Amino acid sequence: MKIRLAKTAGFCMGVRRAVDMVLDLQRTKPPQPIVTYGPLIHNPQTLALLKTRGIKEVKCLDEISQGTVVIRAHGISPQERDILKSKGVGIIDATCPRVSRVQAVIKKYAAKGHFTVIVGDKDHPEVRGLMGFALAGGVIIPSVNNIPEDLPSDREICVVAQTTQEVAAFDQIVEQLRKINPNINVFNTICDSTRRRQIEVNRLANSVEMVVVVGGKGSGNTRRLAKVAESQGVKALHIETADELPANELADVNVVGVTAGASTPNWQIRRVIENLRQVGMRPGPLKTLRDISDTTIMTYCWAAAAGAGLTAACLRMQGLPAAVLPMMVSALFVFSMHLLNRIQERSGAVRFNTPDIAAFYVEHKKLLTGLGLSASIAALILSTQLGVISTLLLLAMMITGRLYTAPLPERFMPSLKWRSLKDLPGSKTPLVALGWATCAAALPVLGRPEIVGPHTAIAFLVAAGVVFWRTALSDLLDIQGDRIVGRETIPIIMGVKNTRKLLVAILIYLGCLIVLSVIFGLISGTGLILLINILVFAGFFIVYKKRHLVDRLMFEAIMDGNIIIAGLLSVFV
Ligand code: SF4
Repeated sequence: MKIRLAKTAGFCMGVRRAVDMVLDLQRTKPPQPIVTYGPLIHNPQTLALLKTRGIKEVKCLDEISQGTVVIRAHGISPQERDILKSKGVGIIDATCPRVSRVQAVIKKYAAKGHFTVIVGDKDHPEVRGLMGFALAGGVIIPSVNNIPEDLPSDREICVVAQTTQEVAAFDQIVEQLRKINPNINVFNTICDSTRRRQIEVNRLANSVEMVVVVGGKGSGNTRRLAKVAESQGVKALHIETADELPANELADVNVVGVTAGASTPNWQIRRVIENLRQVGMRPGPLKTLRDISDTTIMTYCWAAAAGAGLTAACLRMQGLPAAVLPMMVSALFVFSMHLLNRIQERSGAVRFNTPDIAAFYVEHKKLLTGLGLSASIAALILSTQLGVISTLLLLAMMITGRLYTAPLPERFMPSLKWRSLKDLPGSKTPLVALGWATCAAALPVLGRPEIVGPHTAIAFLVAAGVVFWRTALSDLLDIQGDRIVGRETIPIIMGVKNTRKLLVAILIYLGCLIVLSVIFGLISGTGLILLINILVFAGFFIVYKKRHLVDRLMFEAIMDGNIIIAGLLSVFV
């Protein structure tokens, strides 16, 4: 079965901003309790997760007397805002800027005495909030069949749309309104995100046999997506979770499209895609090949090969032959550290970011632990051939790696906020880069001081930059799950935009470092091979920017495959 995922599937800008703002409150610690006025988003699974993090929902303003109130992306009416202010509670305004714009339009025209028409769902919180701005009177029109007969014909009318309305339905209503009162000012305030989502599902529906729409059953924009798909004559399945996928109905489907509402988190979409892959993969050589490649990536064998490749590239950069021994030490180190840390993962982020991988680790925990420990011992034994300094350094790195996830027992310094190295904000990415780069560039030569030189430092900087880049991008892809479990990765601390800028800067820095080092004869010309890595990284970055939901296994395959190829080329060129 082919799965076509809509580029626009998942959180829209306003929902992502609101969820991020709420999850970030856990770090800034505003007055407690933290409550959201109404459900933060129309997604029961996300709301349940927020509840476990102490963020509850209140249904009416009377329930609020202290702490901090979050105004959700839909916004509220000015009257409700005044009540909140009078209570003296902390207010976090997560109103989507696009909803604020509609509020501003209504406010402006109401002040001029215009009657307001809102095309939208009567009970939708956004519409209720908007209506509060229509101080010169107004009406809500949910469909073309519900246009009231008593619309004022002697006053100017301001027409706006609920941001998630269907474009065609809005146009239809406006056409009818013009017939009743030509004196209307129309503002198509349907959010661009909604518009693009609908256009895309329209296109998607024409190229698949069935469309799966993922999202809360109470989410109007998700329901509308299913309706748009059905309008193209395709069966649309609106499901909330992956468990609702009907295996029997999907068994004969060859091409399925997947989209999701504006309030559907990435981990929910990933679970659906994973289940679809399971349902759609028919037994045969292709399935076997796919299973083997997935297992290779999930168990870090692929990353281990990348570790070996990076070592080969670093050795060649230093003008040394690509010896097998240091490559094996690197591969075993990378394999054992990643595997054992993944097994010890306590935050639960992996359950959200990559549920299939999490399940795999639970199922094979004992076997994987045995493999990880054996690889550590083998790496240490082999490293003795590289000299005492290299062995001691490797041992120190392994101990640091093991301590990284190990929690300090509560009885020691109970007030300490960070219970393990892993809890230190942003620690993962630089530590991974440091570990890989030390193995690739320093360990192989430390036992022979006569061959250590500036080329070693440059090889180290290049290797660290490459691994930092790959790991930071992976953090960007996992940002939703990491936020939910409170893990503070670099993108969470710096923000998505700044992390992207940092990634671009690192690519430029790496490119310049390699080229200048070769020009000035500081490293061998084979270092230029790593420019291929930089180009592939840049290409992947462009794709990622256009599409926020990337298949994690595919990501690992491309990122580490890129390093493996650079290593192979370094050996043979
Ligand atoms: Fe904002 Fe548009 Fe999302 Fe509504 S759909 S929250 S207006 S980005």
